[in-house]
Amino acid sequence: RTPMNAILGFAELLRRGWQNNPQDTRRHLDTILGSGRHLLALINDILDLSKVEAGRLEVERVPCAVHAVVHEVADIMRLRANEKGVRLLVRCPEALPANVLTDAGRVRQIITNLIGNALKFTLQGQVTVTLRMVASEGAADTTSRLAIDIADTGIGIPADKLDAIFEPFVQAEASTTRQFGGTGLGLAISRRFARALGGDVTVSSTPGQGSTFHVTLDVGPLEGVDWLSPESLVAVTREQSRQDDVHWQFDAGCVLVVDDGAENRELVRLVLESAGLTVVEAHDGAMALDVVAREVPDLVLMDVNMPVMDGYTATRL
Ligand code: ADP
Repeated sequence: RTPMNAILGFAELLRRGWQNNPQDTRRHLDTILGSGRHLLALINDILDLSKVEAGRLEVERVPCAVHAVVHEVADIMRLRANEKGVRLLVRCPEALPANVLTDAGRVRQIITNLIGNALKFTLQGQVTVTLRMVASEGAADTTSRLAIDIADTGIGIPADKLDAIFEPFVQAEASTTRQFGGTGLGLAISRRFARALGGDVTVSSTPGQGSTFHVTLDVGPLEGVDWLSPESLVAVTREQSRQDDVHWQFDAGCVLVVDDGAENRELVRLVLESAGLTVVEAHDGAMALDVVAREVPDLVLMDVNMPVMDGYTATRL
């Protein structure tokens, strides 16, 4: 409930105009934003875990450039690493398949959790993420696995806690929440995701020296797959991050935003207008049809669940 208290408390404070100057306003807004993100992460974790527990976890297996996913996550996390003065490195010492069959979204969540933990529990030194292909342990078969090791030089984990930390809501020390925050859900979720992808998450650690979390993923058959050398892996990643920097601006265009949430419509309107587009709004599917009868927009952003007429029906009509 802590982030919710901060969101409500500071929003109320701003509404009453109790802040003293623009810097205070800005700081309070940052707190609200940060707490909102934290709360969203928490809600996502809890929903993910209940989905797993209810046996409703679905994973997909489509071609995915795992090394690019890992680099993307690391680029985002590097901000936090820099703030703490901890180095964050990604290494691909050997060639890797350009694409493997797995679930990019789930892999991203696993890696985000593990790098996040490594940074959280490391006060100095470095976090190194290493990707390589390994032969399956199941001796006879020739399928291979992708192994991702996340090694840190942090506080480490006592030997008698190495199993328990993978249970939901378990942390190594009673003082962990107070000192580092967190809920004890990240590892439970990461392990379940990895197992759903035919792999696992395990750990080895020396208290006071650091921990290494080992992720393996079963990545399907590799016949006919292109392999990338360590050098070209670096090049591919550079290209990727350049594309992410693009700031969109449109010459003209009309977008119809269909959503029953007034706040959602207002937010989307502000974002699209700042990119040079004009926006028409509708609060349900039926109203969207009325709008389209009068003028044809260049693009429709259609919500799914709405009163009067839902997004699927409106889109079909
Ligand atoms: P949270 O990080 O929210 O507490 P996790 O399930 O991700 O939840 O982790 C459970 C516990 O495992 C942590 O509270 C911490 O005690 C321990 N732990 C996880 N990763 C590390 C790490 N890299 N170094 C030291 N301890 C760790």
